[in-house]
Amino acid sequence: MRIEEDVKLDYKDVLIRPKRSTLASRREVDISRRYKFKWSGHTFDGIPIIAANMDGVGTLSMAKYFAEDGNGLSVAVTKHYALDDLQAYYAEHGNRNIWYSIGVSEKDVEKLDAFLASDVQKGGNGIDKLCIDVANGYSEHFVEFVKRMRDKLPETTIMAGNVVTGEMVEELVLSGADVVKVGIGPGSVCTTRKMTGVGYPQLSAVIECADAAHGLKGFVCADGGCTVPGDLAKAFGAGADFVMLGGMLAGHDLCEGSIDEDENGDKFVTFYGMSSDTAMQKHSGGVAEYRASEGKTVRIPYRGDIAETMQGILGGLRSACTYVGAVELKELSKRTTFIRVTQQINNVFGTS
Ligand code: 5GP
Repeated sequence: MRIEEDVKLDYKDVLIRPKRSTLASRREVDISRRYKFKWSGHTFDGIPIIAANMDGVGTLSMAKYFAEDGNGLSVAVTKHYALDDLQAYYAEHGNRNIWYSIGVSEKDVEKLDAFLASDVQKGGNGIDKLCIDVANGYSEHFVEFVKRMRDKLPETTIMAGNVVTGEMVEELVLSGADVVKVGIGPGSVCTTRKMTGVGYPQLSAVIECADAAHGLKGFVCADGGCTVPGDLAKAFGAGADFVMLGGMLAGHDLCEGSIDEDENGDKFVTFYGMSSDTAMQKHSGGVAEYRASEGKTVRIPYRGDIAETMQGILGGLRSACTYVGAVELKELSKRTTFIRVTQQINNVFGTS
């Protein structure tokens, strides 16, 4: 047994120090990014925020919204859609704003293969970005799976995760991942830290993983733990190339879930982790015996139109850039100095 003594930080443990700036207005700030991916050779051009592949967030309605609003945000669409629905989406709206998600099961691979053999794929509108998502990206089996997908799909942009340490980021980049997804335990409806004792404070994970990925021309996506727009600024300031959001985008009219009303007329939406009892009941017919649920189910207020939420998120990010004099999002991490504002990590398990 060993104890690491150096302090690891979460978003809530820091603030960004303001810096002198020549920027007159947040309107002058460009928060889109352009990346060229190491393996696929494709170029990304847009605002690097991705809706998480969760029920109520990674929906086709959300993808359609992002395809139409022109900002270039994208959605990792949940893997639970029927093949026909996915193909119909790609055929109509193209692939710019959508990551096709899979786990590592053969069932997921069969569905992917069926898509790859379809006319939509052959017509050039098909899958060009793949999100390979498992709760624990540390297994050899997962690394082998990433290699297998890279061999099979040499020109597809692959995002893979989740991990939280530099050496595993390097292994995944070298195995064929263009983007490594970073985060174990920070999610708003995640209970991994409580159920297993495993995790890593997200800000430090992003700083360390971004450093490892960038050294190999890879990218990282900071996944989970953002609760307010300022957290996205901290994630990008820490070196994240993409930020993935679950809870911050949940509860809107694009969630494709049912909206409940209480006796006072207040509306609610049920939001749950993808390994919660709710998700397992819905998609797998129950919790498998060998595993405990590592996600929870919450009722959140219905938030209606997503436009106002998006304005808050994008406005907050632009404003953060003006406070440190970053004309482009690209400059934010270079101009970020974090100030530690907590002496100890009090509540790594989040609020319940
Ligand atoms: P949020 O933005 O809500 O804080 O975090 C979203 C992320 O939480 C997702 O992208 C995913 O990585 C993670 N997540 C989603 N569902 C679950 C779950 O049931 N258990 C765990 N451990 N993580 C989850």
